[in-house]
Amino acid sequence: MIDGKIAFVQGGSRGIGAAIAKRLAADGATVVLTYSSSADKAAQLVAEIEAAGGKAQAVKADSADASALKAAIRNAAEAHGRIDILVNNAGVLAIAPLEDFTLEDFDRTLAINVRSVFVATQEAARHMGQGGRVITIGSTNAERMPFGGGAAYAMSKSALVGLTKGMARDLGARGITVNNVQPGPVDTDMNPDSGDFAGALKAMMALPRYGKVEEIAGFVSYLAGPEAGYITGASLTIDGGFSA
Ligand code: NDP
Repeated sequence: MIDGKIAFVQGGSRGIGAAIAKRLAADGATVVLTYSSSADKAAQLVAEIEAAGGKAQAVKADSADASALKAAIRNAAEAHGRIDILVNNAGVLAIAPLEDFTLEDFDRTLAINVRSVFVATQEAARHMGQGGRVITIGSTNAERMPFGGGAAYAMSKSALVGLTKGMARDLGARGITVNNVQPGPVDTDMNPDSGDFAGALKAMMALPRYGKVEEIAGFVSYLAGPEAGYITGASLTIDGGFSA
């Protein structure tokens, strides 16, 4: 359904972003994905996608660096003629008690989790036509932050709720949808199912298990396709009932 589309995934080398890149490529899109430090994993992912018959390219671009991110999107648009699908996945999780939380971590959280979404969407929108899709990976922590130390992360993900609504208004007249997917606990490097937190998190959920990266990627694939054309400005949880 998204055969021949051009997808740009910021933060696509590992975890949820890598699964999204794989899924969109399997669905027939040409995928340009970015990474900041995992060059090897990004290259391996591209090789895997190509071995499966898909089209992908990895580009180094730190999402905290607005000029680098914009240049990566511009280059992708020039190389492929346009951008049809933007996935804003890059994210960081800094956890520390309020008394110890550094301003550096606060600023980095905002720069990667929020500012990069604004920057990438603004740039990608310049290269998008009718039917364009912007999909951001937020978090169920926008709605429920049931432990201490995560204030900045929760704030960053809550900010995406408003940003998504506003940008949907900006781009709706051009037939572009903007949505925010809010996962619950998903087994990745950021939040391993084997980690110290896992038991406590599962105890809070209607479905007491971690999500799989493929489950998030499947939802993103749906939102990227034509059937989801009437969904915009929405923050949609896929969280095993974490926020229920
Ligand atoms: P991981 O830490 O496993 O992967 C993060 C990805 O983002 C990597 O590809 C990483 O690239 C990239 N990234 C991080 N910082 C930057 C940066 N400055 N510039 C470019 N790319 C960057 O995280 P997850 O897969 O778990 O998380 C993905 C998204 O999902 C995040 O936005 C996160 O907040 C959200 N999320 C995750 C949940 C979970 O339980 N796992 C739950 C809810 C939301 P590199 O490899 O180069 O570092």
